[in-house]
Amino acid sequence: MGATIIDGKAFAAGLREKVGALVPAFVEATGRIPGLAVVLVGEDPASEIYVRSKDRAATAAGMASFEYWRPAETSEQGLIELVEELNADDNVDGILVQLPLPDHIDDKAVIAAIDPAKDVDGFHVVNAGRLAVGEDALVPCTPLGCLMLLKDRLGDLAGLEAVVVGRSNIVGKPMAQLLLGENCTVTLAHSRTRDLADVVRRADIVVAAVGRPEMIRGDWLKDGAVVIDVGINRLEAQPGEKRGKLVGDVAFAEADHVRAITPVPGGVGPMTIAVLLRNTLVAAHARAGLVPPEGL
Ligand code: NDP
Repeated sequence: MGATIIDGKAFAAGLREKVGALVPAFVEATGRIPGLAVVLVGEDPASEIYVRSKDRAATAAGMASFEYWRPAETSEQGLIELVEELNADDNVDGILVQLPLPDHIDDKAVIAAIDPAKDVDGFHVVNAGRLAVGEDALVPCTPLGCLMLLKDRLGDLAGLEAVVVGRSNIVGKPMAQLLLGENCTVTLAHSRTRDLADVVRRADIVVAAVGRPEMIRGDWLKDGAVVIDVGINRLEAQPGEKRGKLVGDVAFAEADHVRAITPVPGGVGPMTIAVLLRNTLVAAHARAGLVPPEGL
């Protein structure tokens, strides 16, 4: 029969539309447009592309988008001062500082300076802590997007065995917390996990967030598992190719027997920006003392 392909691109487009459709009611209630500020330091081409697509997506959803481009020599203090200005700006509901930052700037110090109420990336320790204790939090966009895809596919996740491979603060750890919040039995695996293949074989849900091309082989996946592949890995260009192919952390071609799987590209990737817009609208409601709309 073959695995169902989870179309993250279509789901993300639907979410962006849903957010866009809810903006006018917010404007009506508050007299202002929800605003997202994105800060980029230095000239990383991948980050520039990403920042531009955030800008386009926010504008398309009817939000105000503010971009702050700062040279690579910007000091940590200078960047923190910019974040503090954005914290104080009532037109800004979400602040995102594009990572990675240049080596002389401590990511943690900059993230700590963001008002947790505007931390739409969900990286501030206050939001990480709230997620861990099961309180309302702004949750990192990529894992929240993965959870949306899983719930769309499976409905109630209670009691399912979930294995998350990778324990970064950005993807793996918040993913594990979210799945625990849905009453899954969660295993968080990493580079020191013994017998990883056997651990993954137990899983009804596999979330791969490692950054190693096709590391998770087809025979690690049990029949009927649902597989979310967060990895984005560019292979070396083959003769005749301008750029190498993009592949995930899962050997997609070997996963015909699973129930459903996200492709790379076109799976998790497009969810991140859509959830960023969702988080910005949720933050805007909370800051205005309004209840966030249902079903977001
Ligand atoms: P990190 O490099 O921060 O974390 C990688 C994790 O994988 C670590 O916890 C590491 O373990 C674990 N790991 C490394 N090697 C192995 C191994 N051999 N076996 C088991 N675990 C291993 O990566 P991120 O979480 O930031 O990103 C992961 C992937 O997801 C990347 O490909 C990235 O490009 C992609 N990504 C995609 C996004 C999107 O779609 N929008 C957003 C964010 C990331 P340990 O902790 O022990 O070192």
